[in-house]
Amino acid sequence: MRQFFLALIFFACHAPAHAWNAAGHRLVAIIAWQQLSPATQADIADALSRHPDFPRWQEKARSTAGEDIFAEAATWPDDIRNDPRFHDDQEPATPPLPGLPDTARHKHWHYVDLDARGKAESGELDRQIARLSQILRSTGKKAEITNALPWLAHLVADIHQPLHVGRHGDEGGNQIEIENPFNKRLPFSSLHVYWDDLPGPPWLRGKRLKQNASRLLDQYPAPSQGDVLRWRDESHRLLAKAYPMANGTLLPIVDDDFRQQSREIADRRIVEAGYRLGRLLDDIFSHRVSRETP
Ligand SMILES: [Zn+2]
Repeated sequence: MRQFFLALIFFACHAPAHAWNAAGHRLVAIIAWQQLSPATQADIADALSRHPDFPRWQEKARSTAGEDIFAEAATWPDDIRNDPRFHDDQEPATPPLPGLPDTARHKHWHYVDLDARGKAESGELDRQIARLSQILRSTGKKAEITNALPWLAHLVADIHQPLHVGRHGDEGGNQIEIENPFNKRLPFSSLHVYWDDLPGPPWLRGKRLKQNASRLLDQYPAPSQGDVLRWRDESHRLLAKAYPMANGTLLPIVDDDFRQQSREIADRRIVEAGYRLGRLLDDIFSHRVSRETP
């Protein structure tokens, strides 16, 4: 009975989410940073220092180190979801911020839902990764680089989360409620939230964050680079393993096997996203330099 009421409370409070949590994004960013040449690291640190939220990132990270700022910047597209300086797509535009031309929240950039034949039904995750990469390669405007970097760092991580390339019918698992007896704090949640929270607690930062990133790098090999369509299709194929098959009293339930398998998939996808983001950025910025230098 207690579980029934807990489930009722959960259903009443539930709001859809669309992202790895902050720990996942920071882990991907820390792994990516290690793949960058010192020149690319310097270029990225310089671009992020011109972002209007740079002081907030320093404060949150309690650090001025490039990798720590990059890790905070990677969570920024989620941080603006409830920030009144930014607007939803259907709302009137909020005024531009100094150094930041775009103040839309772009919630549909965080995911792409595919139909049974692999055709996109909603969301722009794959298209935006391609577009932002192109902007970073070609733009001469510093504000555009500053704007695109946190988005690209964030979205390359999102596209490696299986439920971000989900089924339109259940909104990428947001409509699927599950029971998770391993989580005393949140025994009922949507399947999407279960996956988002797998990389660790959202306050993971500093030394612990770097220890976790090193542990993951020791566990999983560097992946081949592929391209955005391949990253998308890999996630979509993993969907078959993303839904718990066992049933609890009311809902599908997370059992030992599912827990172990989903953790393994999440950890591996974080590592793959980190390597691939790092190599992508290094490729983009090294070509920018060679083009800019006569
Ligand atoms: Zn996201």
